[in-house]
Amino acid sequence: MKNRGYYGDFGGAFLPEILVATFDQLEQAFETAKKDPFFWESYTRLMASYSGRPTPLTFAENLTSHFKGARIYIKREDLNHTGAHKANNVMGQGLLVKKMGKKRVIAETGAGQHGVATATMAAKFGFDCTIYMGEKDVMRQRPNVFWMEQLGAEVVPVVDGTRILKDAINEAFRDWVTNMDSTHYVFGTACGPHPYPEMVTWFQSILGKEARNQIMEVEGKLPKRVYACVGGGSNAMGLFSGFLDDPVELVGVEAGGKGLSSGLHASRLCSEDASPGIAQGYKTYFLQDGDGQMKETHSISAGLDYVGVSPILSRMYDQGKARFESATDIEVVEALKLTMVREGIIPALESAHAFAQAFKEAPQLSEQDIIIINQSGRGDKDIFTVADAFDDPKWKEFIIKKAGEYSHA
Ligand SMILES: *Cc1c(COP(=O)(O)O)cnc(C)c1O
Repeated sequence: MKNRGYYGDFGGAFLPEILVATFDQLEQAFETAKKDPFFWESYTRLMASYSGRPTPLTFAENLTSHFKGARIYIKREDLNHTGAHKANNVMGQGLLVKKMGKKRVIAETGAGQHGVATATMAAKFGFDCTIYMGEKDVMRQRPNVFWMEQLGAEVVPVVDGTRILKDAINEAFRDWVTNMDSTHYVFGTACGPHPYPEMVTWFQSILGKEARNQIMEVEGKLPKRVYACVGGGSNAMGLFSGFLDDPVELVGVEAGGKGLSSGLHASRLCSEDASPGIAQGYKTYFLQDGDGQMKETHSISAGLDYVGVSPILSRMYDQGKARFESATDIEVVEALKLTMVREGIIPALESAHAFAQAFKEAPQLSEQDIIIINQSGRGDKDIFTVADAFDDPKWKEFIIKKAGEYSHA
């Protein structure tokens, strides 16, 4: 029992006494589901009919000839319902909630993507839904807040602390302590106390298993390397899960922000600025100072802007089982632009980190080598950020005109 949920020295479940029984119940439900082949079957059936799975594995012919190196494939998680791999996790947890007989879900969200995904799941399953979001994020992410509310969720702006994601997580735990019997906390990534890292990874493994089958089918051999961006680590763990027993190099790409030496980044596993610590119920590498104060993080992509990282990835890092790199905001925007004009595909800024790193390495590989890039999400949501980054004058004009219409009304 003691070592449950530990990955080497990382992970664990550092919980207030009052939540222990609830976590035991969740772990029980998860363990039962894992052993039950019908559960996985009902999950894949749901994902097929509701979220378009299996998602395609697209051969990026034009990027491949552009770089004159490895054959580049893209796993299309952007084609999921709500536009990202997040659907895999929330729908899976939704099925578990039904099993546990609970009627209400809560979730934390930073950029709002996990909140929107959770709100769709709650609507579909008929659960009440409350989403906690830092007040600063509520102001920055109005389009997602709008959709969550239209989908029937209540969005609660959190005014504590720095009013961002980590404060929303604390507030969600506070809600849970008060409403344990009726409520499940849909955690958004492969972090947090046990069993979340393992459970979220299990649901996301659907994408890695598919990718492995698909590449074997079209190429008849394994890729040399696979690339995924790393925020909390759920899409990376999902992809890596398909290749853990294979001679495939696993590459995780963190947010390099304005550069690792600038201090303005969110790189936990490939910078000197993070160290192991315990916060928010689990042990992992956190971006913290010598006194354990969490540092400010920066990334052009809100989804990678997080101080912690999956304890399972921290373990893989320590063991050398995966390699971690970072891509800067500038490199990411360039990779995004190239992917758009060459392939007609618009990756999310998060996903574009994986593309940027793969593009650095592809030319050094041979034409016999295959690489897979996980496109964790679609970029439509990033239109404000990307238009700013491209400094598009017609977009600016449009925004100013829109704002004018409201101020005259
Ligand atoms: C949320 C998000 C991420 C980061 O989350 P992980 O748990 O690290 O996968 C990456 N890409 C997209 C598109 C996202 O929405």
